Amino acid sequence: MRRTTIALVPTMGALHAGHIALVKFASRRADRVVVSIFLNPTQFAAHEDLTSYPRTLRQDISWLAAARTDLVWVPSVDVMYPAGFATRIVPEGSATAGLEDAFRPHFFSGVATVVAKLFIQCRPDIAIFGEKDYQQLKVVTQLARDLDLKTRVIGVPTIREKDGLALSSRNAYLSAQERTVAPVLHRVLSDCAKSIAAGGPISGILENGRTAITRAGFALDYLEARHADTLAPVGARREGPIRLLVAARLGKTRLIDNIAV
Ligand code: AMP
Repeated sequence: MRRTTIALVPTMGALHAGHIALVKFASRRADRVVVSIFLNPTQFAAHEDLTSYPRTLRQDISWLAAARTDLVWVPSVDVMYPAGFATRIVPEGSATAGLEDAFRPHFFSGVATVVAKLFIQCRPDIAIFGEKDYQQLKVVTQLARDLDLKTRVIGVPTIREKDGLALSSRNAYLSAQERTVAPVLHRVLSDCAKSIAAGGPISGILENGRTAITRAGFALDYLEARHADTLAPVGARREGPIRLLVAARLGKTRLIDNIAV
C-alpha cells in the first residue's frame, strides 16, 4: 500500500489569500496538509515589528478549516525554544547574497533554525513556500538539501491584489494613502523586467527604477537584478535567468517583492 504523503506549509499567521494558495497547492500535491503558525521571535531584530505583527489566530484557523487543512500546528515560544535552547543554524550561500541579509542580518539564521525544527517536528515529504519571499525560498531549499532533510521544498508564485501589490500580512500596516502608492513597487518591477527582456542595459534600467520608487515616496533598501538560481549579481542577460528583487519602506511598513525577467 502507498504511504500517506504529508505537505507542510509554514506560516507566521495573519493569513491571507497568498497563504491559502499555498495550502491549496499543498493539498493537490500530498495526502495530508499540515500548516504551522508560529510568529518566530528569533527572525525579528529588536527594532522590528514583532510586537505589532498582526495576530489573527481564530480567523486563521477558520480559514484553514475551510481550505481543508488536516492539522494546524501552533507551537508556543516555550515549545520551540525551551529554557536552555542554545543551537542556531547560520546559512551561507544565497543567505549572504546582500539582499534581505544586508538589511536584516539576523533574519536568515532565525528562519533557517525554525524551519529546520519545523521540518524535523512534522517530517513532511514536501514543504510549500511562496516566491514572494524569494531569497528565503532559496535559503530553505538549500537548507533541506544540505542537512539531508527528507523534505523537498517547492515554491509557489506570488498572489497579488488586482493592482499588482503582492499580498502580505504587513499590508495591514499601510494607511489608505500609502495603499494607493504601494502598487508602484510591482509596476516598476514589471517595467524593468520588460525593458531588460527587450535587451536594454540592466544598470541604467535599474537606476531609472530606483528613481521611480524613491519619487513615489518610498525609502528604497534595494532594487537588484540577480541570477534567478544563485542570486549572484548579473550585469547582462546572457549571464542566466534573471530575477528582479526589491525592498522598500513606505512610512513604517517595509515591503518586498520580486519578479522573473
Ligand atoms: P509568512 O506568514 O509571511 O511567513 O509567509 C508564510 C509563507 O507564505 C511564506 O512561504 C511566504 O512566502 C508565503 N507568502 C506570503 N505572501 C505570499 C503571497 N502573496 N503569495 C504567495 N505566497 C505568499
